[in-house]
Amino acid sequence: DTLTLRTIGKKRRILTFSQMATTKVPEVRDITRIERIGAHSHIRGLGLDDALEPRQVSQGMVGQLASRRAAGVILEMIKDGHIAGRAVLIAGQPGTGKTAIAMGIAQSLGPDTPFTAMAGSEIFSLEMSKTESLSQAFRKAIGVRIKEETEIIEGEVVEIQIDRPATGTGAKVGKLTLKTTEMETIYDLGNKMIDSLSKEKVQAGDVITIDKATGKISKLGRSFTRARDYDAMGAQTQFVQCPEGELQKRKEVVHTVSLHEIDVINSRTQGFLALFSGDTERSRLRSASRLTPKCVLFIDEVHMLDMECFSFLNRALESDLSPVLIMATNRGITRIRGTNYQSPHGIPIDLLDRLLIIATSPYTEKETRQILRIRCEEEDVELSDEAHTVLTRIGMETSLRYAIQLISTAGLVCRKRKGTEVQVEDIKRVYSLFLDEARSSQYMKEYQDSFLFNETQAPTMDTS
Ligand code: ATP
Repeated sequence: DTLTLRTIGKKRRILTFSQMATTKVPEVRDITRIERIGAHSHIRGLGLDDALEPRQVSQGMVGQLASRRAAGVILEMIKDGHIAGRAVLIAGQPGTGKTAIAMGIAQSLGPDTPFTAMAGSEIFSLEMSKTESLSQAFRKAIGVRIKEETEIIEGEVVEIQIDRPATGTGAKVGKLTLKTTEMETIYDLGNKMIDSLSKEKVQAGDVITIDKATGKISKLGRSFTRARDYDAMGAQTQFVQCPEGELQKRKEVVHTVSLHEIDVINSRTQGFLALFSGDTERSRLRSASRLTPKCVLFIDEVHMLDMECFSFLNRALESDLSPVLIMATNRGITRIRGTNYQSPHGIPIDLLDRLLIIATSPYTEKETRQILRIRCEEEDVELSDEAHTVLTRIGMETSLRYAIQLISTAGLVCRKRKGTEVQVEDIKRVYSLFLDEARSSQYMKEYQDSFLFNETQAPTMDTS
């Protein structure tokens, strides 16, 4: 009365925990996989040698040696993972590579280390309080490493025995005891079964019906997700389960998901835990997961935070779970948001006192030239030597950012005239088409009377 099925078992599983986390909660990480040239896409690391000494030009990084050396020490501290709740502030003039250094740290850490980046202004949302969004940012930055055990290795031969007749939940099915808590291990029965029992292909997640009278196996559909669905289908339905012996053949896969991803999944009624009806699965997952200490939260434009947020940070940094916090600002002495007090970088003194501060300084002409050269390569724009010299001069006299912007625009102008190499003329053309900040301000002053709502008497912008 026993049917023996042999099948070449291909690994087939319902979405695993971490797959669910990554497929259902798309994060910045996924989006950045799109191949586009971003402001920092030329940065591949901090450009340090084995002794943590910065090379003048390496991994897309140029100059800024002292700050890169300091960032290298921070990088080692993060990699080491023992120290929680350290905070670093990168401070310096606009365009001196603060964000670039933070990106360099992220690149050096690699994709497995959670590195969450946000701008200070992101906390201002109508949907969430400021501290809630900060707390969410912290939870995004804390990674949980999950060891998953894959029960069936691809291409492996699996032997399944099914007894007839089959009956209700928990029924003995030959050697197999039906365990509804392990339903995600349902897999492809394979071609052998199709030949001998059914013309249909059976796949992971399929519901199999065994006819009590004839023992005929057929496919019912892919509707089942939980134990109660099984119950609803009645005693006739069977799920084919991996034999106990097979469960020993395990393959370990380690994934990193963030606490925030777990929060989101758990907040859904159909969250991943709903897939598992028994406690066994939960405890298996729990025992296999562990917090990863190597995590980083980067807050750019940190002067945008206000007093409440700074107080929150003070507190959050004291937690053992806290990631290493890296902040950046280009502000000098300015008002702390939410108060009438002034403070360096707009950050309260008590928080400043806890920070390791890294200063960045303006670039020399040679460094500006090198950064522009790297950006040209990144944007695939060929520049003649003279054009490069002119662009460097523009970079020194206006700003590095403005000069970087002119690369792709000059490249377009060059292509329009069917040229292959950007010449001085192309640079001049885009320089006259697009104003830099200083010329724009000059223009405003000259033509102030022609603009609507002109308020030249008003104090200059308070950006704090
Ligand atoms: P802000 O204060 O305005 O935010 P920032 O200090 O964060 O400025 P970045 O955005 O890092 O400046 O730098 C401006 C541009 O110059 C970016 O495209 C950046 O990648 C590039 N850059 C800055 N410094 C370096 C460097 N040392 N090596 C290579 N590229 C750099």
